Amino acid sequence: MAQSSNHAVGIDNTFRRKFDREEYLQRAREREEKEKEGRLKPKLKGPPVQRKPLKHRDYEVDLDSRLGKTQVVTPIAPLSQQAGYYCSVCECVVKDSANYLDHINGKKHQRALGMSMRVERASLEQVQQRFDLLKKRKTTGSFTEQDLDERILKQQQEEEERKRQRRERKKEKKKEKVADEETEMDPDVAAMMGFGGFRSSKK
Ligand SMILES: [Zn+2]
Repeated sequence: MAQSSNHAVGIDNTFRRKFDREEYLQRAREREEKEKEGRLKPKLKGPPVQRKPLKHRDYEVDLDSRLGKTQVVTPIAPLSQQAGYYCSVCECVVKDSANYLDHINGKKHQRALGMSMRVERASLEQVQQRFDLLKKRKTTGSFTEQDLDERILKQQQEEEERKRQRRERKKEKKKEKVADEETEMDPDVAAMMGFGGFRSSKK
């Protein structure tokens, strides 16, 4: 009996969702109209954005300042403190130096800086000026071996000075530490642990 009613004509017992074709056709037409208007609008809105031609960087790219350093990374830390190279212009993190270079040379980044990827075509005059500039730089900045020696010496002196300062800082820290332990510890215990000996050898 149940079976016969299942096959009855005109009764829907499939439990599937049925769509009102007319209604959705109407909706689709409205959407198409809107899309047409929307598509036409931006063209009427005026000329396309003119971006400046590509310019060379006027700053040094910092790729290795954190080389060999250890950093604690947590997933809740702000983007700028997460593992990798942070781009403050696009607010994104790139995972390694090669990709970071690619990113800052890339279209998205340059666009954010207001530049297109087109390079300005240099005129003959500009090329000549550039040659003159480079020639001048070559003659004025004549470079001798003596200069090099001086520079090396200077650098060595600076390095020495830095080392000396580091050593002093370490010494001070040690002194503070010993002073702390002296106040905390019984003098006999301190002597037993070798702090007494350490102190006397220092003085
Ligand atoms: Zn960027």
